[in-house]
Amino acid sequence: MHLLNADLHCHSVVSDGTLQPEELAERAHRNGVQLWALTDHDEVDGQARAAAAARALGLDYLSGCEISVSFAGTTVHIVGLGFDADDAHLRNGLAATRGGRGERAREMSEGLAKVGLRGAFDGALKYAGNPELIARTHFARWLVEVGACADTNEVFRRYLTEGKPGYVPHRWASLGDAVRWITAAGGIAVIAHPGRYKFTPTEEYALFSEFIAHGGRGVEVVTGSHTTAEYQTYTNMALEFGLLASRGSDFHSPDESHTDLGALPDLPGKLTPVWTALQERIARG
Ligand code: AMP
Ligand code: MN
Ligand code: MN
Ligand code: MN
Repeated sequence: MHLLNADLHCHSVVSDGTLQPEELAERAHRNGVQLWALTDHDEVDGQARAAAAARALGLDYLSGCEISVSFAGTTVHIVGLGFDADDAHLRNGLAATRGGRGERAREMSEGLAKVGLRGAFDGALKYAGNPELIARTHFARWLVEVGACADTNEVFRRYLTEGKPGYVPHRWASLGDAVRWITAAGGIAVIAHPGRYKFTPTEEYALFSEFIAHGGRGVEVVTGSHTTAEYQTYTNMALEFGLLASRGSDFHSPDESHTDLGALPDLPGKLTPVWTALQERIARG
C-alpha cells in the first residue's frame, strides 16, 4: 500500500493548470502513477472527464478538489478526495467559494495598473480556461508574457503576495464548511501542503486541532511543495494527530512545475496512506 505510486493533487485548465484533464491522465499514466486524483481549485467540473480518461487508460481514480479556506488571516487549502462529485451541497459550496474571484481579479488589475501594468484583467482572463476560476496564476502568466518578470515565481514575489501591488486579501470558505462539504459528500478532507503556510506553532496546532474537530482526517506529507525536512516534520504531525497521510505533486504545468506527476518519494512506512481508507471510493481503471 505504501509503495503505490499515488498522485492525489494536481490541476487542469478547469482551474489554474495548463493541461486538459485527459492530458493529465495520460501524463500520470506515462509517469507510472497507479492511483490518480485531479484536484482543481474550488471546482469539480473536470471530474467526469478525468475519471473517464483514467478509466480508458486502466488507471485507478479518486475524485478530488482543492478548496480555498480562510483561517487565522491566511489562505489555507483543503483537499477533498473520494467524494461524490455530483453532491449538490458540495457543488453549491464550491460555487459560493468561486463567487468572489471576478471582483477580486478586477481589484488586482487596478492595483497593478497603479504601478503601470495596465490591462491585467483582460490579460489574465486570456489564460483562464474557466473564467469563474480566474486565479493569481493566470495573472502571473500574463505578467511573464508582457515581460514584467522572467518567470511566475518572480511575479508572485514582486506583485502577487501580501503587501505587493497586485495582492488583494480575500475571504474564502470557512475551514468547517470546507471539511463538512467534503465529508458529507462521502469523501475525506486533507490539509494541503501544511509546510507552505507561515503559521506560528500555536496557529498550526490550532489549524490541525480545529480541522480534526470538524471531521478532517488527512494531511499531505509528501508533496511537491515540501522540502525533505518538511516530509519529516509532517510525518511526525500526522502521527501525533492520528491523521491519514496523502501524497501529491501539485502539478500545474510542464513549463512551471518542478515536480512532475508521480515523481515523488514514497510515504514513510509508519504512516497510514489516505487511500487505505478510500478503497470503496476508488473507480477501478
Ligand atoms: P489564488 O487561488 O488565485 O489565490 O491563486 C493561488 C495559486 O497561485 C496557487 O494555487 C498556486 O498555483 C499559485 N501560487 C501561489 N503562490 C505561488 C508562488 N509563490 N509561486 C508560484 N505560484 C504560486
Ligand atoms: Mn494553483
Ligand atoms: Mn494549494
Ligand atoms: Mn494545488
